[in-house]
Amino acid sequence: MERVAGACRVLGLLDATHATFGHVSVRDGDAMLIRGKGRDEVGLRFTSADDIIKVSLDVELVEGREGLRPPSESFLHTWLYKLRPDVQSVIHMHPQSAVLLTTCGYDVQPIYGAYGRGAGLAVQGLPVYDSSLTIRDDERGKDFAQFIGDRNAVLMRGHGVAVVGESIEEAAVRTLQLKEVADMNYNARLIGSPRTITAAEADEISTMDDPHRKLGSAGGKAGALAMWRYYQTLAEATK
Ligand SMILES: [Zn+2]
Repeated sequence: MERVAGACRVLGLLDATHATFGHVSVRDGDAMLIRGKGRDEVGLRFTSADDIIKVSLDVELVEGREGLRPPSESFLHTWLYKLRPDVQSVIHMHPQSAVLLTTCGYDVQPIYGAYGRGAGLAVQGLPVYDSSLTIRDDERGKDFAQFIGDRNAVLMRGHGVAVVGESIEEAAVRTLQLKEVADMNYNARLIGSPRTITAAEADEISTMDDPHRKLGSAGGKAGALAMWRYYQTLAEATK
């Protein structure tokens, strides 16, 4: 529960969402742990372990303190756990830049290379789910999970983003990378007409995850964990 709460605090601090919107979950057997909503909820930035509740994949509360209940968008999470055995963590956020870009009909494109790891997500492609409505029942949850398919990150028009990972840490770092590339696209459009990177650059970026390389940051999962330690330290330092 502390790992889910820690990811909530980091994502809240770094403006991956606003106020109490959004949730982080992790698979827990045939259920999930997720930040509770309701009368006594707190904003993401201030989440602690006792704000995390256990919810079955049928969206019933299994365990959690008084005053908290499952998020209405629990179905976004449960259907991904049902349809994607590889997924261990699901994150849904409302980053402002992603919402504005999708509202204006702009794609999030690969417009930079070595600047940051969000480039890799843009190269893989970030499709837009064409509904701004809450994923609040089984029908919408299933439809959304089928839309994601085997992807790790998508945008939701006029709503936010959804990201999955093999761990909470991987999903949280990926969420921040998605926010990075959305912010960069948004800001680039404010000052001009951003150029996409070349096909050769895109090719190289999509193979940058070699964990055996001998120089620089660790690639792949080790690199993501290094980034995660930085974010956690930052969240602790700004308590
Ligand atoms: Zn939402």
